[in-house]
Amino acid sequence: MKLIHSLNKEEITEVLKQFGAPAFRTKQIWNWLYVNKVTNWDDMANLPAKLRTQLSSEYSISPASVDEAGNESGTLKFLLNFDDGEQVEIVLIPARKRYTVCVSSQAGCKYKCAFCASGQAGFSRNLEAGEIIAQYLQAASMADAPVTHVVFMGIGEPFDNYDNVMKAIRILNDKDGLNIGARRITISTCGLIKGIEKLAKENLQVELSLSLHAPNQRIREYLMPVASKESIADLLVACREYFAETKRIITLEYTLIKGLNDSEHNAHQLLKLIRHKPFRVNLIPLSPVAEFQGERPEKETMLEFMDILTNAGVNVTLRDSRGSQIKAACGQLRYSNKDK
Ligand code: SF4
Repeated sequence: MKLIHSLNKEEITEVLKQFGAPAFRTKQIWNWLYVNKVTNWDDMANLPAKLRTQLSSEYSISPASVDEAGNESGTLKFLLNFDDGEQVEIVLIPARKRYTVCVSSQAGCKYKCAFCASGQAGFSRNLEAGEIIAQYLQAASMADAPVTHVVFMGIGEPFDNYDNVMKAIRILNDKDGLNIGARRITISTCGLIKGIEKLAKENLQVELSLSLHAPNQRIREYLMPVASKESIADLLVACREYFAETKRIITLEYTLIKGLNDSEHNAHQLLKLIRHKPFRVNLIPLSPVAEFQGERPEKETMLEFMDILTNAGVNVTLRDSRGSQIKAACGQLRYSNKDK
């Protein structure tokens, strides 16, 4: 059964028309779904019983069961189970008196990055827009403070499920509903140039984050098979064009891996790639994955790497890798569950 959360307002109005119900009911349904966040058709008290029956016969309102997986320093990770047996993982990250939720865009991933458990587990299917929204709603129902930010950094490559991700973003962003500001939504890509080009034309103020993870083409190809098709040089051109179109700075994600991409030389190589360009850099200590032999660098090494960039005027942060004990690296939880 299709999830009602996969429908935008126009589509709900169209469904109502087919059921012989007036268009003004769309606003009422939207309000129940995204302001009151009900999970039962019968809770929609101002809808006629007949319409509730019609809707419930064709559309599901509560898609999934949830398994809580762990809590480390306030970072909560859980698995959402869909009716067809697929699972996605959601991470709820505290930040002062609010939360950021990290959502998945696909069940599994095709891109097989060496340090990522999702890549090892393989690809199952794209998520519907409603299955992405369901992750946000589930997180919001479990949080003890508002979930104000959404990052597409869970399982999957968002640009490989482009239309559903864009639809979900527009539903999240809708002023009459969840009203998550576009600037509080981040899309993270492994570097699909066509996706970057399309996003630039969407007229959405969302944040874009690029998983670079390497200071040169050779290391990037070793870590990320996608790099053999989308070169660093071409990616940087696409990013520059994206900035020219949107005036929005791009965040580069760079996972620091001991002895592979964490040397002073690597920092200078990275600097050469990005100096005077529209980037900020987010350094991430490697989270251990059983299938990848890499290790996290010493803290001192990471700080030295960071200093080289900072001293050259780059806006750089070193991410706190909270959640590594609860398998919070991308895809690790779903993968360990599949193993079982
Ligand atoms: S890092 Fe992202 S793109 Fe790469 S395998 Fe994992 S989920 Fe896929």
